[in-house]
Amino acid sequence: MSKGRKAVFLDRDGLINRQAAPHHYVCRREDFNFLPGVPGAIRRLNEAGYLVLVVTNQRGVARGMLTMEELEDVHHFMCEELGRQGAHIDGIYVCPHNEGECSCRKPDTGLFLKAEGEFPIDKGRSWMVGDSATDVEAGERYGVHTLLTDSLPQAVSVILGRTNQG
Ligand SMILES: [Mg+2]
Ligand SMILES: [Zn+2]
Repeated sequence: MSKGRKAVFLDRDGLINRQAAPHHYVCRREDFNFLPGVPGAIRRLNEAGYLVLVVTNQRGVARGMLTMEELEDVHHFMCEELGRQGAHIDGIYVCPHNEGECSCRKPDTGLFLKAEGEFPIDKGRSWMVGDSATDVEAGERYGVHTLLTDSLPQAVSVILGRTNQG
């Protein structure tokens, strides 16, 4: 019937890992702390056949607080740790720009469109989960279901519960 995969787009800070202190950014792997239950929640999405795609605003790069190389190292660490727990992320899409500089900073949809260029997405069966109103707005603009929460395990229960109802 429909082409494309079902996907769950995830915000990063405040959903996957603990939010940095105000005016701080997660710049090093030592600063990256998973929120409780996150690896298991991502594994459940993997097992249910969802693509797991991270869409994250990282304005700290534009502000010179961290480099793309440092950011990539943080993400490498995140993926390694997930792998150790049997979970994986299929793609990570970053907006490194400042406000008003691009069409990818959420609530714009550029990061989703980039993901869509790599994976055909079945939007009707896909979700955006995040802890900010801008995450929900981005998901709505793109055209997927949305959940506003800081608990990924709870979000995954909702998504999988919905799926099982048909
Ligand atoms: Mg967030
Ligand atoms: Zn951008």
